[in-house]
Amino acid sequence: MTQYVAAIDQGTTSTRCMIFDHSGRVVSVDQKEHEQIFPKAGWVEHNPMEVWQNTRQVAAGALAKADLSTSDIAAVGITNQRETAVVWDKNTGEPVYNAIVWQDTRTDKIVQELGALGGGQERYRPKVGLPLATYFSGPKVRWILDNVEGAREKAEAGDLLFGNMDTWVLWNMTGGTDGGVHVTDPTNASRTMLMDLDTLQWDSGIAADMGIPMSMLPEIRSSSEVYGQVRERGALAGVAIAGILGDQQAATFGQACLSPGEAKNTYGTGNFMLLNTGTEKVMSENGLLTTVCYKIGDAAPVYALEGSIAVTGSLVQWLRDNLGMIGSAAEIEEHARSVEDNGGAYFVPAFSGLFAPYWRSDARGAIVGLTRFVNKGHLARAVLEATAFQTREVLDAMNADSGVDLTALKVDGGMVVNELLMQFQADILGVPVIRPVVAETTALGAAYAAGLAVGFWKTEDEIRENWAQDKQWEPQMDEARRTSEYANWKKAVTKTFDWVE
Ligand code: ADP
Repeated sequence: MTQYVAAIDQGTTSTRCMIFDHSGRVVSVDQKEHEQIFPKAGWVEHNPMEVWQNTRQVAAGALAKADLSTSDIAAVGITNQRETAVVWDKNTGEPVYNAIVWQDTRTDKIVQELGALGGGQERYRPKVGLPLATYFSGPKVRWILDNVEGAREKAEAGDLLFGNMDTWVLWNMTGGTDGGVHVTDPTNASRTMLMDLDTLQWDSGIAADMGIPMSMLPEIRSSSEVYGQVRERGALAGVAIAGILGDQQAATFGQACLSPGEAKNTYGTGNFMLLNTGTEKVMSENGLLTTVCYKIGDAAPVYALEGSIAVTGSLVQWLRDNLGMIGSAAEIEEHARSVEDNGGAYFVPAFSGLFAPYWRSDARGAIVGLTRFVNKGHLARAVLEATAFQTREVLDAMNADSGVDLTALKVDGGMVVNELLMQFQADILGVPVIRPVVAETTALGAAYAAGLAVGFWKTEDEIRENWAQDKQWEPQMDEARRTSEYANWKKAVTKTFDWVE
């Protein structure tokens, strides 16, 4: 009797394997960090081979920790950091270059040139739901083909494959050079700038604009179906791989936001708020993205509006790793609690430009409002508050686009253990913030997609029933202070513009 479903969560900072039972509770986790490679200012890379080795190790580790064997696992789902692009040789299985990570801004010029073909930043939005920005994968593939010696010739000869991390992991798990399946799902494909949101197929015109041969692109299947079996000997061998969801869509699924009007906000390296808009594709007029939320088997695709924020939890990491101001991410709360408020300081972490709702690649980070009074505690607060203010900007855009005001926000991700941040978030939004019992919603969502495909879970209602609340924070700040704090933040944001050409 198979009683469990596994999920591979290939995230920005680490790769996890999690095993869940039928009630959606975590049975076992194994996790491994990979190196963040910063070759130049604005560049961020990962080694795809390291990521693949870690994937194999954590799959074996999670099984071993729970004392389970492969025959206990009904299916495995994959969720992943989206937009991060890998190009590899299908004959050798070797990447031709490191993975270019979603935060990387090197495609700035390429993006400007594409906009200059006509239509500017909005050139492809009607088809793909996205503004032209360095964030998305298509221009990253173009960069690799333009800059890696011999890559374009090989690509044109049909020897190179492109994939986001889901595709890279799936291809390797299903045999790599020995019959690997080259497939993605619509949630990941919708982050490339190359997929038509209506047909869920690649758009050959956009691919031609970007100089990307169609033969490199994976087949787009649904988010929940059997793509193949794990081919390796060892951990998970023979298990059906039956779900793929980009990490933020997976978290939306794991939070059981399965009806139109339901939203979640994930606090990880960056922050991502997604609002389920049902089978209706809502085009944003306020700086949000239109994206595929999920497509379960043959059912119609469900769409989402998304507010993406590049830097939230990674600002805490920066304080730890680049400044050495804290020893661990958790320590920031203690420093923040040593003071009453931010002391007048605001920190706008525009390290990768600004994503939603601004989409300005010319922005760079700024700390403003400094006086001799400001100390470590105030800065720690300013760092945490930056996450909450950016979330408020996204929520305002979401309310404006959807025409309905959200009355509560479901949250998850690594930062939601921070109680001070959660209280401040409720204060600055003016609506309650709700944390579920299972905070690992990303992996859970991928497990649900895989489990639904093989009949381990029968209906979406079973998923709704599994969701349970852990804690709720109510707004306590008075309206006048909320307004003035937010106005100060907005002013601080304007100081980050026009730093790079
Ligand atoms: P991802 O899936 O994007 O790799 P996670 O959801 O694992 O990220 O969250 C990790 C992030 O959360 C890190 O950027 C880290 O700095 C931040 N973080 C972890 N613990 C805390 C904490 N107690 N307070 C604030 N931030 C935290």
